Amino acid sequence: MPTGLVYHPIFLEHDTGRMHPECPERLRAILKRLDADGLRQELAAIPPREAERVWLERVHTPRHLRDLRDGVAMAGERLCYLDHETPVSSASESAALSAAGGALAAVDAVLDGSVDNAFCLVRPPGHHAEPDRIMGFCLLNSVAIAARYLQHRHGIRRVLIVDWDVHHGNGTQAAFWTDPSVFYYSIHQYPFYPGSGGPMEVGGGEGGGTTLNSPMDRGCGDGDYLDELEKVLLPAAEAFRPEFVLVSAGFDAHAADPLGDMRMTADGFRRITELVRGLAESTCGGRLVSVLEGGYDLEALGASAAAHVRGLLK
Ligand SMILES: [Zn+2]
Repeated sequence: MPTGLVYHPIFLEHDTGRMHPECPERLRAILKRLDADGLRQELAAIPPREAERVWLERVHTPRHLRDLRDGVAMAGERLCYLDHETPVSSASESAALSAAGGALAAVDAVLDGSVDNAFCLVRPPGHHAEPDRIMGFCLLNSVAIAARYLQHRHGIRRVLIVDWDVHHGNGTQAAFWTDPSVFYYSIHQYPFYPGSGGPMEVGGGEGGGTTLNSPMDRGCGDGDYLDELEKVLLPAAEAFRPEFVLVSAGFDAHAADPLGDMRMTADGFRRITELVRGLAESTCGGRLVSVLEGGYDLEALGASAAAHVRGLLK
């Protein structure tokens, strides 16, 4: 069975204005590289749908969803800013709903056996979106919504989320802070935006111990990431025994990225993908869906996402 690819042109219509790093060209750069490397033809296309409100409400408050709708309604000729760096345009709600719904469609395709695993080539990204807060280029937390969908639509009990975006996924951490059924692991530059993700942040209440952060010094490269994942993520994940693995796949830890200060290479992303795929194979039959988060140097992003796809393919 192949690896699936979620993509739709609606993701290009989320307009962030001139000079914004989170731009439609990001997806075009990845598609161009997948085509150039002959990878796209090896992938099974999975069409996204707009995520149904019942699943959005498993993560986000009604006020959050209303803020998004109101912001999009206000955006016309001009963009509407929902936080100081997060603009929306008239198509942004539809794009965000399709990004979340793309992750749900990918989950369905893995669970019905039509693909082994899948990569969601979507935007806007999601991991900074908290249950009640639009933030950091992120409108809806697609990975968090997919985790709740796995549990409440498909009866999956334990979900592991691995987030290797260079920024800490404060939104995903907040969504599952007290929940022992979703294990959130993040490896990220620290201290850095958004400020959270320190080593003492391990979850609270019944969720104490199912949040785990690997804060990394700036300048870390492939070897540092692989060592940390082997030493910290693998034993924790094996003890947790996930039934499904979701990946917040940001590629802004690449050496060329203008936002991050790390030194990862595209091939490093292939290797960490293989490590996490191996983890999914040893714990849950290889059931894995990854969702694009950050990555802002177009060339490096294309190469890194293509390397990620190579790591997902058998
Ligand atoms: Zn990022």
